[in-house]
Amino acid sequence: MIFSTASPEETKAAARTVAALLRPGDLIAYRGGMGAGKTTFTAGLAQGLGSTAWVSSPTFALVHQYDGPTPLCHFDMFRVASLEDLYSTGFFDYLEGGAVLAVEWSENIEAALPEPHITVDIAMGEGDQRTITVTGDERFL
Ligand code: ADP
Ligand code: MG
Repeated sequence: MIFSTASPEETKAAARTVAALLRPGDLIAYRGGMGAGKTTFTAGLAQGLGSTAWVSSPTFALVHQYDGPTPLCHFDMFRVASLEDLYSTGFFDYLEGGAVLAVEWSENIEAALPEPHITVDIAMGEGDQRTITVTGDERFL
């Protein structure tokens, strides 16, 4: 699935479309640098999964949980540099929890990512343009 967006609102709308296809236990691994729109996309996921909470970056907390009909756990692995760090986020416990997991800076935990997982790549274009590519399962073909 490929979305071209030109505003944060359009990115959230794309995420709501993706959210409608998600199932408990799915893991979304983001690709895309600082300011690409990973947290913005996650806000749309939370909306789509039925949470009314305000979504903010979990940079310091490492993980935020949003409760709704399908819970969403939002990780920021920017500062995670070792398996020990990863254990301390509780990541491995969350994997079993039946929530949807959305992982920013998934590059940092590449070796620990479960297979299969869904990749959401957000590429920045001119100005507010973003190209969002969702792969990893036939639901997104
Ligand atoms: P990340 O989590 O990838 O670092 P954020 O979602 O926190 O990125 O921030 C994205 C920034 O880019 C926000 O300031 C947002 O307003 C801006 N932005 C501009 N255009 C878009 C777009 N099309 N989609 C998402 N965010 C956009
Ligand atoms: Mg972010």
